[in-house]
Amino acid sequence: MSAPGERLDHFMARANAAYYAGCDPFVDFITAPEISQVFGELLGAWVAVVWGLLGRPDPFMLVEAGPGRGTLMADAQRLLRRVAPACHGAMRVHLIETSPRLRDVQAHALHDATAMPVRWHDDLRGVPDGPMVLLANEFLDALPIRQFVRRGQGWEERFVHDGAFTHAACDFPAGHPARLRPVPEGRVLETCQPALDFIHALGTRLLRWPGAALLIDYGYDAPAWGDSLQALRDGRPADPLLDAGRADLTAHVDFRAIADQAPRGVAVWGSVTQGDFLSALGLAARVEQLARAAPAQADEIRAAAMRLAAPERMGRLFRVMGLSSGLAGDLPGFAGRHAGDGTGRGETR
Ligand code: SAH
Repeated sequence: MSAPGERLDHFMARANAAYYAGCDPFVDFITAPEISQVFGELLGAWVAVVWGLLGRPDPFMLVEAGPGRGTLMADAQRLLRRVAPACHGAMRVHLIETSPRLRDVQAHALHDATAMPVRWHDDLRGVPDGPMVLLANEFLDALPIRQFVRRGQGWEERFVHDGAFTHAACDFPAGHPARLRPVPEGRVLETCQPALDFIHALGTRLLRWPGAALLIDYGYDAPAWGDSLQALRDGRPADPLLDAGRADLTAHVDFRAIADQAPRGVAVWGSVTQGDFLSALGLAARVEQLARAAPAQADEIRAAAMRLAAPERMGRLFRVMGLSSGLAGDLPGFAGRHAGDGTGRGETR
């Protein structure tokens, strides 16, 4: 039987590659670092603490995956240069970014923030060996997903044809961590193999070189089903199957499935909510400090912080997961909680 269209993940990969190459994503949606400088600053402070827990390696790689406009890294750099110059001096900045257009935008943002040289890579494999701290905000949600619909005892996979879904009977991917989830008739189960591959590569690297990674994204951390594919255009929801390359396509991140990909020996932390994580990192104190320094903008500064942390805004939907190896202590921000016992096997399901 011929394929009933383009497989959803192939469609999503093509649409997003065209979108990030041709459009300015930040006209269509706004991310945490674009909302408040406090986001990048708190993550910068987190990097400095983690660097200390790693034994102050010099040099070490500071890597960001999917840096968008480079705002997070620029805010983190400014803070580190000011408050943690030794850490700043030891770091080598590496960005994982496939869009040539966004690489240019990032080069400008970072040139203004720091005189430090920056290197770009298509994926994690390009990053040189050595201790590493990695940040990724809203990176995994942009990676292409497949969708499977429960039909009787079997599955149908979703394809895209002429702006609509088509379906074909299929087997669920063997060995996928979501395969044992009970899913009612007609409901959708999503998988994101590139996200699993990324976490596996990250975990394998952390077995060879000490380091830590922070993955921040909207998603869920319990067995779940449902269609989470969405498109944003001009800040408003759009039909994800129409006008490929004109809107940003994302899907919720399955934190439970990605935790499963961390190899034994890598510690998995969280996931916790973004609200809890930012509070643990000192959001309130930093916001008040900025508000005092700029009284005319105090209300704006506080409102932006609320948007990041309040449960009804981004505070609960967004989650944070950490991976680490070779750390002399707990990964900061997780209140000592980690899903595994250092075996990286995640919570019992
Ligand atoms: N982290 C940024 C931007 C998120 S948008 C922020 O918080 O504002 C997603 C980013 O991931 C963009 O920079 C996009 O170009 C990049 N990206 C998407 N798919 C990618 C892939 N497969 N490999 C590398 N980068 C990718």
